[in-house]
Amino acid sequence: MLPPFANEPFTDFTRDENRRAMEQGLARARSRFGEHGRLLLDGKWVARDDAFVSLDPSTKDRALGRYSKATPEDVERAFAAATRAFETWRHVPAAERAGYLLKAAAVMRRRKFELAATMVHEVGKNWAEADGDVAEAIDFCEFYAREALRWAEPQPLVHLPGEENGLSYIPLGVGAVIPPWNFPLAILVGMTTAALATGNCVLLKPASDSPAIGLRFAEILQEECRIPPGVFQFLSGSGSVVGERIVCDPRTRFIAFTGSMDVGLGIQEKAARTPKGQIWIKRTIMEMGGKDPIVVDSDADLDAAAAGAVAAAFGFQGQKCSACSRLVVVKDVHDELLSRVVERTKALRTGDPWDPATDVGPVINRAAFDTIHEYMKVGAKEGRVAAGGGPLDREGNFLLPTVVDGVAPRARLAQEEIFGPVLAVIAARDFEDALAIANDSIYGLTGAVYTRRRDRIEEAKRRFHVGNLYVNRKCTGALVGVHPFGGFNMSGTDSKAGGRDYLGLFLQAKVVSERF
Ligand code: NAP
Ligand code: MG
Repeated sequence: MLPPFANEPFTDFTRDENRRAMEQGLARARSRFGEHGRLLLDGKWVARDDAFVSLDPSTKDRALGRYSKATPEDVERAFAAATRAFETWRHVPAAERAGYLLKAAAVMRRRKFELAATMVHEVGKNWAEADGDVAEAIDFCEFYAREALRWAEPQPLVHLPGEENGLSYIPLGVGAVIPPWNFPLAILVGMTTAALATGNCVLLKPASDSPAIGLRFAEILQEECRIPPGVFQFLSGSGSVVGERIVCDPRTRFIAFTGSMDVGLGIQEKAARTPKGQIWIKRTIMEMGGKDPIVVDSDADLDAAAAGAVAAAFGFQGQKCSACSRLVVVKDVHDELLSRVVERTKALRTGDPWDPATDVGPVINRAAFDTIHEYMKVGAKEGRVAAGGGPLDREGNFLLPTVVDGVAPRARLAQEEIFGPVLAVIAARDFEDALAIANDSIYGLTGAVYTRRRDRIEEAKRRFHVGNLYVNRKCTGALVGVHPFGGFNMSGTDSKAGGRDYLGLFLQAKVVSERF
């Protein structure tokens, strides 16, 4: 019997011993700079000369290493190995499969600082954000291990005299796991372990901005957990080449994707095709973007609202699907809230993420820097820049946290996912209008409402159309098991990662009826 699930605590970096441990973690992560990352195929590590670099976004051109690009032959080999391995893995008892997850969690707990430090350098997370990412990865392993046991239990059916009936959940087959770079450990681990724990075999294609941390997890599964050959394989390379090849292959039974709407919709379309030889409809589990609003009512606690909005807008530089990118405020309190938001935004420290005093680090890469910078200029036309508005004068992909006031509800700044530190402030006539503005989006991932009025809380609960609605708290920071996570509409298939429904997406039900 496992103890009940509990969330992994966040590290208190005000304590000396934790700061020292993080410094050591950073040193350990740096000692791997220059590595040549390998692929994991059929239980063996292989390196390819054709490789791509992963850059540290705080620097001009420092590389963590070079990472192999999987060739078409590598993908072929991976499918052959996975198809073979599935015949055994599908019948391994759930408790045994869960054991691999628990072992992975234990290893990540032991190597927490090194893993966090890898993300500080590879994607520019500050200490707390990187620590939170590792904690969430550990949570997914612990939570899904327990869930796998629950899904393997006998399922209740209505009794029919003279017959023995049973329903059991069986795995789907060989699947693709395609994660984003922004929670490069947590989401990668969550989708992978959910698939593995339920008896599927996984071809993992990490995001090209974060192959190093993905490789660290692959090493944990292979070297420390001793996952059987072919059950889990690691194929780095470009999404549009390696990812697409895996998505389109008739041997792929399911695709677990988290990333942008455009890429997700492209995958959804390709997955819908049934090439010759394919004998199933591919299942897709798609988690995509957001344009997440925080609504502030006229009688709200404005300090709490300002603190929540700034944390949700600029945590990890606004590069979260749940990041607050629209602040919808009832006009009576607009000026007061704006001044508090601006004050807090200006107090944020932008700089190197390995410095523990840093709040806001770099954005992920040069292309993102250019796109976000462009949006800041659009913001200057569509509204009035009240804080930030451009780059920091130094090398690396640093942009100042930016607040744009006076944005119209249908302006580009209010509709398009920017995925950077840009907050659009939109004034509403009243609470009713604020909710309508909040819902006026193709997305529906997270949202928050700050109000002291019970009737308005109830109204928001009924009408605010998002997968994760928060009341009087910020719209980021979902905890595994506590806040199952996923969105409506173009935010995806609402898979509710970290919830009790999630593993069912990787399973199919089989009913056996035996007549006596
Ligand atoms: P992205 O550009 O869509 O990439 C996501 C993954 O898809 C990467 O591994 C990428 O590989 C791969 N890919 C790209 N083109 C592909 C293709 N044609 N076929 C198969 N795979 C392909 O997203 P991102 O920039 O990594 O992540 C940011 C986005 O993720 C934002 O929109 C954010 O809102 C969303 N997100 C959503 C959630 C959620 O739970 N709803 C959580 C986190 C992030 P390459 O890196 O090699 O291109
Ligand atoms: Mg990078």
